This record gives sequence, C-alpha cells and structure tokens, in this order.
Amino acid sequence: MTAHDEILPLNEWTGAGCRPLIIAGPCSAESEEQVITTARLLAGLKCVRVFRAGLWKPRTRPSSFEGVGKEGLIWLQRVKRETGLLTAVEVANPVHVAQALEHGVDMLWIGARTVVNPFSLQELASVLRGVDIPVLVKNPVNPDLSLWMGALERMMLSGIRKIAAIHRGFYFFGKSPYRNAPMWELPIELKRLMPQIPLICDPSHISGGRQYLADISQKALDLEYEGLMIESHHDPASALTDAAQQITPEGLKALLNGLVVRQKSGGSGFETKLEELRTEIDKIDAELINLLARRMDIVTEIGEYKRNHNVTILQIKRWGNIVRDRLKTGMDTGLDTEYLRKLFEIVHNESIKLQAEIMNRNTGEEK
Ligand code: PEP
Ligand code: MN
Repeated sequence: MTAHDEILPLNEWTGAGCRPLIIAGPCSAESEEQVITTARLLAGLKCVRVFRAGLWKPRTRPSSFEGVGKEGLIWLQRVKRETGLLTAVEVANPVHVAQALEHGVDMLWIGARTVVNPFSLQELASVLRGVDIPVLVKNPVNPDLSLWMGALERMMLSGIRKIAAIHRGFYFFGKSPYRNAPMWELPIELKRLMPQIPLICDPSHISGGRQYLADISQKALDLEYEGLMIESHHDPASALTDAAQQITPEGLKALLNGLVVRQKSGGSGFETKLEELRTEIDKIDAELINLLARRMDIVTEIGEYKRNHNVTILQIKRWGNIVRDRLKTGMDTGLDTEYLRKLFEIVHNESIKLQAEIMNRNTGEEK
C-alpha cells in the first residue's frame, strides 16, 4: 500500500498557495450557458481554484434530472480554457472515469452513495491504477468510518497519491436543522488515523440550506480543514438539483471574505482537541434530552394507569424514596447534592404537571 507519507500535500497538486482551497461550482451542469456563466463569475474569487459540476447525478428517484452526462465534458473543457480553473466531476463507474479522462478533467470525486459500496470502489480503484489524477473521496452516506477509510485505502493501493477526503455529513434518523448530520467526531477521528490525508468540508451537502454555509465553513476552518467544496450556481432558484443549498458566486464571495482563517495551532491540535471535547458534550446533551423524553413517555403511562385506577397523582412516600435514592447514587459519582436535588425537583415538577394534565384530559372526556 502507498505509505501515508507518500501522499502529496494538497497545495502541490492544486497549485493553490491560498488556504483554504475552494472548490466551487454547480451541483449539476445543466446547460453550456449555465456552466460558463457560473464559472466566469467564480474565476478570480479568493482561493477558488477548482470548478466542480456533477454530470452523472445519483438521484433517489429515476424520474428526477439525472445529469447531462458526457455532453457536459465539452463545457468543462471550455471552462478550463476560458477561466484557467481546474475542473472536477463525480465518477461512479469505470465508464465515467474513461470519459472524464478522455476529456482532460483535472480531478475526480467519488460520491457518498458510491462510497458505501466496496464493489464500486474496487472497480474504480482498478481502472485508476497507474493513472496520475487527484481523487477526492466523500464520506459514505452512513456514519461508518471504516467504509470511508476503506475507500481511501483502495485508491492508495492503486497508486493514487493525490488524494483528499471530503466530509459531506451523514444520514441521520431524527430531527436536525441540517440535511445531513455533520458528526464532526468522524472526520476528526479520520484525521487522527490518517493524518496525511487532506480534509475538505462540503458544507453544502451537510446543511442542505445556504443560510448555514458560513457557520459550517468557519467551523471546518477552525478544525484545520484544508479546503471547502461549495455548490454555487449563477441562478440558484432555477437550479435543477439542490436549489436550496446553492449560493450565487456573489454570495460565495461574501462568504469567503467573512471567513476567519486562523493560524494553525502549531501542531498542538488545540482546536481539534477542544472540538473533540465539545463534540462529546454535544453528544451527551443529546442523550440527556432523549433520556428525559423517554422518562416523560413512562410518566405518561404511569399517569394513565393512575387515572384508570383512580389513584392520586402525588404519592409523597414514593417521591421521598426517589430523592433519597437519587442523592445517594449521585454522591457516589461525586456530583454535588444540592445540584442533584434541584435537578430532580425540576424533573419531578414536570412529571406532576404532565400527570395533572392527563387527569384533566380524562375528566374533560367524561363530562
Ligand atoms: C454532489 O456533490 O453533488 C453530490 C451528489 O454529493 P454527495 O455524494 O455528497 O451526495
Ligand atoms: Mn448537490
């Protein structure tokens, strides 16, 4: 396998002295006019070095726009000729790779839906053996670090030395303001295990909404990511795919100007460590909220049970036992007794309130 120290640093193959490297362009190439107009507006923006455009779009339903296919490769050649930007496309199978290479595309990326499938990755790795082209590997849709690492390893085994990982968030079953959960702890762990692989953040696919792009981008920079891939369309409202998350080139300019690029923390990984700890706290808080919600579900059951058996809500003896028991357990963990007492008082009061509502609900129905 290619040793990690044979991986080439990002600036060596993008020619970008500018940090972070910006890869920008529409989710999908839609027409020659859209591609060229967008590229012209992007060229010259701070740190924008690579123009991205999806030609073969992995869509959930077959009736959606599935990309213009190889026709778009000619448009990308024109982008390169007229703007000097490097070009990047998503490839999902050996035919895409062959066509992209034939048309002089500068970089390939492998999409989140493809990375979930080791067969596809192996097919791609096999056709890329001995080819000198940068490959960007997105994280798989599901939060499986091994799968992501496996995809990177397959590329490295094929001799790809210009390689980067793109963090685009993970499918998450639950409520979130974002389209995909960032789960920052996964890319952080990837960085720990494969420190030579440059990390690029794709805030567009994490957020699903352009209003979140700046915050996510800043967070990525604070975590020492080396690049950002941001979807940009000259007229997002008319975009055939991912309209809500695309930003105009002008919007991108403002976003880039607003980013604070801090000095790297001298290798001490201060920010990274801090973020790791904060991420732990975020996770624990989410667990706490889930636990409280589960507790309330049980309180509801108890309330209904009491109501059906005509038992009063507040049973003083039970509450006295709870307090005593919780304080005892808490003391063993070193938590402050007063803190625990206050906390359980709040939790208990909320339970009483809910049970009272359940009783009233019943009275209401019977009237
Ligand atoms: C894309 O970059 O347009 C894309 C399809 O992304 P992902 O594979 O991350 O969903
Ligand atoms: Mn997209």
